[in-house]
Amino acid sequence: MKLYEEADVRPEVLSGELLAVLGYGSQGRAHALNLRDSGFEVVIGLRPGGATSAKAEHDGFAVLPPQKAVDGAGLVAFLVPDMVQRKLYQQIESKLKQNATLLFAHGFNIHYNRVEPRDDLDVVLIAPKGPGDLVRRQYEAGRGVPCLIAVAQDTTGNAHARALAYADGIGGTRGGVLDTTFAEETETDLFGEQAVLCGGLSELIVRGFRTLVEAGYQPEVAYFECMHEVKLIVDLLHEGGLRKMHEFVSETAKYGDLTQGPRVVDAHTSERMREVLKDIQDGTFAKNWVSEYEAGLPEYNRLLEEDLNSQIETVGKELRGRMSWLQE
Ligand code: NAD
Ligand code: MG
Repeated sequence: MKLYEEADVRPEVLSGELLAVLGYGSQGRAHALNLRDSGFEVVIGLRPGGATSAKAEHDGFAVLPPQKAVDGAGLVAFLVPDMVQRKLYQQIESKLKQNATLLFAHGFNIHYNRVEPRDDLDVVLIAPKGPGDLVRRQYEAGRGVPCLIAVAQDTTGNAHARALAYADGIGGTRGGVLDTTFAEETETDLFGEQAVLCGGLSELIVRGFRTLVEAGYQPEVAYFECMHEVKLIVDLLHEGGLRKMHEFVSETAKYGDLTQGPRVVDAHTSERMREVLKDIQDGTFAKNWVSEYEAGLPEYNRLLEEDLNSQIETVGKELRGRMSWLQE
């Protein structure tokens, strides 16, 4: 495993270049602010009148329509939603400078061939392993969120060095930058959010809550047990892995964890996980997501509505209202 640090950076490969950041959401805002504070000249590309352009202007950036923003830019960062990137690329392709670098924060569109960049461009990935506000906060504190780096197309011979200089500009080299490929980043990222983080974890919480409520326990008590307390455990895991969690929970909790956990999440779950992974690897998930998006998100909206109107949400809203510190 190769980990790049500040000493590995060759700043000259990117110095003096204009950087165009397309999108000013979670990642876009953090990257743009950090790059500017690192001494780069940054222009923001957004639809005129779009939701976030006022924010970018308020932060003191020049905001231009994407076609104008990329004009003359040595590097263009694609930080708009994944489903928007294909169309946006088609709109700006003819305006891209010869040998410019196209940079992504997630490999989806390159890996599944939804964006097929011109042959003269360098195509790279810098994927911070954290949300944008953390990328910004850590940078301001003199630290940095670790990033993944990958190269899909190297025309200039400097693609990797340019990507690393960008990662340095957003603070990534302080946390360490790790070599990967577009395939590995895309497939593991999708798997993580589906099987473990967003999908798996939320499903585990909701099913635990429902089991208690259906057995006649008070929904409020079930909420505290199955949703609220997740944070305590996740914080321990995040800070010190399984060992730290085991150090801080009771002996009884530990015995219950070790003996009963594998009854709930078992070999069947692993089998389902492998199926989810296979759909990611063979492109089935990407194909389904794109057609759902293009159909106007009917199924997505139906499922989301169902999630947001479920009992755990109603109960949670009420209880969280009494814990004002949660919003701080
Ligand atoms: P976001 O939804 O927070 O922001 C999207 C931005 O794009 C907004 O400024 C929006 O106004 C703009 N936008 C939307 N449609 C547009 C269009 N047609 N033309 C121009 N601008 C448009 O997005 P995000 O979560 O920052 O994601 C950006 C990229 O970063 C994605 O590739 C995502 O996978 C990746 N990523 C996100 C995170 C995260 O924590 N959010 C982490 C790692 C990687
Ligand atoms: Mg869910």
